[in-house]
Amino acid sequence: METAGKQIIDQFGRVHDYLRISLTERCNLRCFYCMPEEGIALRPRSVFMNKKEIVEVAKTFVSLGVNKIRLTGGEPLVRSDVREIIQALSQLPVDLAITTNGVLVDNFIDTFKSVGLKSINVSLDSLQKEKSNRITRREYFDKIMSNINLLIKNNFHVKLNAVIIRDVNDDELIDFIEFTKYNNVHFRFIEFMPFDGNKWDWQKGVSFKEIMNTIDLKYSNSVLRLADRKNDTAKNFMIKDYFGTFAVISSVSNPFCDTCNRIRLTADGKIKNCLFSNSETDILSALRKGKDIQHLILETINNKKSFRGGMNTFEQLSDSAQRNKNRTMVAIGG
Ligand code: SAM
Ligand code: SF4
Repeated sequence: METAGKQIIDQFGRVHDYLRISLTERCNLRCFYCMPEEGIALRPRSVFMNKKEIVEVAKTFVSLGVNKIRLTGGEPLVRSDVREIIQALSQLPVDLAITTNGVLVDNFIDTFKSVGLKSINVSLDSLQKEKSNRITRREYFDKIMSNINLLIKNNFHVKLNAVIIRDVNDDELIDFIEFTKYNNVHFRFIEFMPFDGNKWDWQKGVSFKEIMNTIDLKYSNSVLRLADRKNDTAKNFMIKDYFGTFAVISSVSNPFCDTCNRIRLTADGKIKNCLFSNSETDILSALRKGKDIQHLILETINNKKSFRGGMNTFEQLSDSAQRNKNRTMVAIGG
């Protein structure tokens, strides 16, 4: 296989070098904006990539120039062989990272350290115990907070993800920022996105503009704009003299499609070339038939739409018929 110097480039010239692999659709929480209360239908283990397949697919992506892999889900840490998967992927020449709800982090911190995995995103939608447990429909707030503190104490690069939803947690924006005063974390405020089953309505969303107005009103000249990294999906800020930083991810009101470098691989082995796209390419079936998956990868990314998976308007995003063709976030892999 001649791969030296290969890149995954779409028709608009965007180089795709960042792969997000969903390890499972299962989760030990039921965040209402992500997962239906009853969970999603469980499917036989055979439809999902096993450890060997995950590593093989990852190697193929790396041979095509991927240099960053983030493990996600569902909740990646509920998968029984996740430790071995992390160990195997850490052998590849990639920057390896993970997104987790934090509940099981204490069981894995030694593995993260031993393989050199430094960048950990943890979902945290509220700093209030009752509210957080209401949002996640489970009672793990104390465990999550103690695990976040454990990560901070051990000098991990911790990003905290909060989906900001009107009348749910928009009243906590200033509390989130105050959390960065003494804690070296990067708090990320994410606009509420539409997926199958999450009853999306942009009236419930809080836009980048509204979030920044609230913050500016409180901190005015102390809000410092930070440089964004290449392909960053966030606009980055900090409050002068605070230890941590924060960002707003405006995937709905102002998507970062121009510089998108992301590819998503679902737990059942399908590539999605955009989070908002309804179409998928089944590379696991091809792999199992012994077919070459390189050309499938290249073709799928080449076909990527220029903007938000072709969902160009708010009408399309709000249209539940369009939306229900897409999976729940927990099945896509956030
Ligand atoms: N279970 C892990 C976690 O919660 O971090 C990883 C998977 S989760 C699907 C990944 C990210 O997607 C989380 O930060 C979550 O907040 C975000 N997410 C889920 N549903 C969303 C929605 N409707 N809009 C915006 N972000 C969402
Ligand atoms: Fe689970 Fe993460 Fe979805 Fe919450 S956001 S239900 S923790 S996958």
